[in-house]
Order: sequence, then structure tokens, then C-alpha cells
Amino acid sequence: MVYDLIIVGLGPAGAGAAIYAKRSGLNVLCLEAEAPGGLLNRINTVDNYLGFPHTTGPELAALLFEQIRKLEIPFKIKKVTWIEGGETKKVHCDNEVFESKYVIIASGRKARKLGLKNEANLVNKGISYCAICDAALYKGKDVAVVGGGNSAIEEAIYIAKLVNKVYLIHRRDEFRADEKLVEELKKLPNVEILYNSNVTELIGTEKLEGIIVNGERKLDVACLFTYVGYEPQGDFLSDLEITDEKGYILVDDNYQTKEDGIYAVGDAILKKVYQIVTAASEGAVAALEVVKRVKNNN
Ligand SMILES: Cc1cc2nc3c(=O)[nH]c(=O)nc-3n(C[C@H](O)[C@H](O)[C@H](O)COP(=O)(O)OP(=O)(O)OC[C@H]3O[C@@H](n4cnc5c(N)ncnc54)[C@H](O)[C@@H]3O)c2cc1C
Repeated sequence: MVYDLIIVGLGPAGAGAAIYAKRSGLNVLCLEAEAPGGLLNRINTVDNYLGFPHTTGPELAALLFEQIRKLEIPFKIKKVTWIEGGETKKVHCDNEVFESKYVIIASGRKARKLGLKNEANLVNKGISYCAICDAALYKGKDVAVVGGGNSAIEEAIYIAKLVNKVYLIHRRDEFRADEKLVEELKKLPNVEILYNSNVTELIGTEKLEGIIVNGERKLDVACLFTYVGYEPQGDFLSDLEITDEKGYILVDDNYQTKEDGIYAVGDAILKKVYQIVTAASEGAVAALEVVKRVKNNN
């Protein structure tokens, strides 16, 4: 079967596209590598999404998934490994190939690593990129958070409610995060902020036993939560040559890449604002563009 549209990724951007495409009558298939909701599953507080004065990422992800199911939007839990362009697009997963007239890529971004020796081996053994997934495991213990943006501060506030002490390690002398968040963090009695600081060493081989900061101070932390930015996860796109040198997908005003019929939306593209509301709206715009082309048969 040749689908009208295949959507890669079911975070807010992919889901936004899927809802508009399906409601417009397209024969659509969504392919998601992990869990519907994307990054929402890893955010503890969302206070800036329309209609939700305060919610959590997983709650929003669950509602989004309910909407996908109610609309009977077909989806498969499969990781896309390669996309072939041309008039009929071929979307390759490990042992299956799906065909479609159009593709919308909504594959988001992944957390950037610190680049320290042994970091990869210690992931899930004391190195975490997801407070909502792991913070509860460190109840009563000391942990560290690295970063200075909104994500780092929001997550540090959340973690501080669960653990004994949080060291917030930031490489500059002031934060990039919203002032309101920084004020909230500074009021917490169990948070120590280390400015002008970098984690220079991870201690432990089987599990994290501590960290060294600025080459001298040892902190006996059981976990290091890392929020030092994000990078696109588009390894499957290398053949298409639609990204910039950092891996962000380049699109035009209609979210089409330079490959005809292949669109991209959400955190995977080069843009100014990386938020849920922008991701969802870009998905809707791209889907409606595809709807127009399917109906006009071009
Ligand atoms: C800690 C944190 C806090 C945040 N807080 C807020 C907030 O309060 N408000 C706000 O508006 N935004 C917030 N954001 C940003 C927001 O989460 C993102 O902008 C939004 O999730 C982007 O949506 P997306 O669909 O583009 O990408 P994602 O949500 O990352 O979804 C991408 C999906 O694609 C899937 N995928 C990737 N590669 C493949 C592949 N090869 N095959 C199949 N599927 C694939 C992934 O598994 C994932 O499910 C926060 C982000 C973080 C990390």
C-alpha cells in the first residue's frame, strides 16, 4: 500500500500533523521509535501551553495519545532508519519498508552529552538526562544538576523536592533561565549553586560514585542530571542531505525540505523557538500543505 502521508515521530509536532492530516481524510501512518508524546514524557512541569495553566508532560502526552486513538490514527512503534526520496518515498525501518507520497519528519532532538570519559557507560547508573524518570530513585541522597537554561532550573527545582541536596553546576556567573524560575530555585534551602563551574571527571566504573568539579572539588553525588542543551537525532537522514552542518533540517515557509514532498517540523528543524506550541502548530501547517497537494494531485 502507498500511504498519502507517513509521519516520523509522534511528539507534539508529529501528533499535530497527524491530527490535521487524519481529520482531512488522508491515508496516514505514524512511525514512532519509543513512546507517543515524545519529550513530553520527560518533562515534569508545563506551565505555558494554551488551555493548561498547569500540567505535567506525561499528563499532556497521555491526552495527546488518547486523541490519536480516538481519531483512529494508525501508528506503529518502529524506528525509522533510512528515508529514500523520489516520487514515491520509501521509509525504512529495521525489517520493513513503508511507502508514501509525502513524508513529514518530526523526530525532535536528543540531550547533548557532557563528553566526559565513561559517561556512556554510566548512563542509567548515575548519569541521567531525565529527572521525571529517575529523580525518585535518589530519595534522601545528594545529586548534581548541570546546566543554566530553563530546563536545568525547572528540573533542579523538581529534583530538590525529592532528594537530600542538589548541587546546581553552571559554567557561567549568571543563568540564561527565566528570572522567576531562578528566584524560585534560589529560595530552596537544599540547593547549592556552583557558578563558573564545570564537571571535569566522573568517578566510578560500575555506577557513579561522585564527580570532580573544576578539577579539584569532589562531590559525593549519587546521580548527575545533565541539561546542557540538545542536538537533532537525524542519523537516518544523512542520504537526503537536507540538514545543516549541525544536523538541523532546513525547511521553507511551508516546512518543505529541498527534497520535494518531504516536510519537517518541530524541534528537528532549524528555527528560533523550540516549544510545544510551535511544534504542534508547525505540524498542523505542514499537514494542511500536504492535504492541499493530495487533493490537487500534485
Ligand atoms: C526538560 C525539558 C522541559 C521542557 N519544558 C517545556 C515547557 O515547559 N513548555 C514547552 O512548550 N516546551 C518545553 N520543552 C520543549 C518541548 O518538549 C519540545 O519543544 C517539544 O517536545 C518538541 O516536539 P517534537 O515533536 O518536535 O519533538 P519530540 O517531543 O522530541 O518528539 C520527537 C519524537 O520522534 C521520535 N523519533 C526520533 N527519531 C525517530 C526515528 N528515527 N524513527 C521514529 N521515531 C523517531 C522520538 O522517539 C520522539 O517521540 C521542554 C523540553 C525539555 C527537554
